[in-house]
Amino acid sequence: MNTHSTEPKTENKEEFRDHLATVTEEGKRIWVYPKKPKGKFHRARVVVAIILLAILFLVPLIKVDGHPFMLLDILGRKFILFGVVFGPQDFHLFVLSIIGLIISVFLFTVVYGRIFCGWICPQTIFMEMLFRKVEYWIEGDANKQRALNKRPWDGQKIFKKGLKHFIFAIMAVAIGNALLAWVIGFDSLVELISRPIPEVFGKFMAMVIFSGVIYFFYAYFREQVCTLICPYGRLQGVMLDPDSIVIHYDHVRGEPRGKIRKGEERNLGDCIDCHLCVDVCPTGIDIRNGTQLECVNCTACIDACDAVMTKIKRPTGLIRYASKNEIESGVRKIFTPKAIGYTIVLVLLFSFITFLLATRSDYELSIVRTAGLMAQEQPDNKISNLYDVKIINKTFNTGETTLELENIEGEIKVVGGDLSLQPQEVSEGKIFVIIPKEKITKLNTPIEIAVKTNNKVIDVIKTSFLGKIKGRKFGE
Ligand code: SF4
Ligand code: SF4
Repeated sequence: MNTHSTEPKTENKEEFRDHLATVTEEGKRIWVYPKKPKGKFHRARVVVAIILLAILFLVPLIKVDGHPFMLLDILGRKFILFGVVFGPQDFHLFVLSIIGLIISVFLFTVVYGRIFCGWICPQTIFMEMLFRKVEYWIEGDANKQRALNKRPWDGQKIFKKGLKHFIFAIMAVAIGNALLAWVIGFDSLVELISRPIPEVFGKFMAMVIFSGVIYFFYAYFREQVCTLICPYGRLQGVMLDPDSIVIHYDHVRGEPRGKIRKGEERNLGDCIDCHLCVDVCPTGIDIRNGTQLECVNCTACIDACDAVMTKIKRPTGLIRYASKNEIESGVRKIFTPKAIGYTIVLVLLFSFITFLLATRSDYELSIVRTAGLMAQEQPDNKISNLYDVKIINKTFNTGETTLELENIEGEIKVVGGDLSLQPQEVSEGKIFVIIPKEKITKLNTPIEIAVKTNNKVIDVIKTSFLGKIKGRKFGE
């Protein structure tokens, strides 16, 4: 499953390509017992994970003017981002953002490899920072877990396994509910939970299944989500190139590897073949074989190897963030011209999407003369034109809409009452624009109509006023 690789220096150097590290030749799964990671990268990842988990669990609680600060109602095609609501009318923005996101992911991966997998991906965060932590807490480090699994089902094993899976189930339900709160909103979630189960049986069952899937993923399926299912992981082979920055073993410095033997002069590389980088790997691979599809860039092997290097008084960084070219040339060059170019494109792309989102209007208005109708004579030497009005209200605001002529004397009458504004709705109606005859000097007089809601001008629409009355010449 190697994508492109630094040359492995093991005797049977190509053997690892023939199978997944976590599957036997007979196709049976090898359960991975990664050693507890520790080190500066792990500490940094814990901080990032705490921030991301806080966002997941707390953001659905935030409200702006009584509405969610963030909402991703995919089924209802309604999104609220940072308090700004996006509905079906903003579909073009949604499509553009998705395209932008896909291009960004591609560009980002070409330059920075799988940083996303190790630091941000929910699968890694939930697995390594929640479920695995509970497992270490209850069952102990890798060796203790192995021993516990081999042990017969005595009281202690039943207690530890029972407690672990009970906490796993609670966490799965909590994650499932947090994700649901992002989709339906926290208030709707609370309402759903507080209703008797028979009343919301379908939704309740959907939640049970959803939480069950989360539990199954983290209790049993684990790293296989990354190695077997995740399309992003499987696309690495085509996205990474020799300049991509990924977690690399410096084979130039490390090989030939070999154990330290007391009293013997060492003519080997820096790798002392202690196997710790493999022992901590949550996907069970040996990074010394080169970049592999299964590597989720979790940095555990960097921390493990740095600790070893410090102990044997060698420079840290035998395993580090680096590109294949950097390792082979020995020149540390993170920002290659390509990396700079792609980063600029990324920044421009994000700026463009941000600009589109920031400049999007809260209302969409159109006022057009009703097709096929001439002007009509009105009492007091006035003439009128009929117009179709359409107002798309993208906000949560309500209120009555008033229309006023801006650049010419006259009045506007709404046919059939008022044009009231409903949140997130489209208001349609017809209006008469009535103007004194003496003000109409042209066949088509440009007019401007100010649209106000709650006494605030939301837009000024330019249209035209037809001066010709049916059956008469213009001006008669
Ligand atoms: S942790 Fe470092 S020294 Fe130990 S086997 Fe891995 S690369 Fe070699
Ligand atoms: S090889 Fe290193 S970075 Fe990659 S998954 Fe294993 S421990 Fe994490």
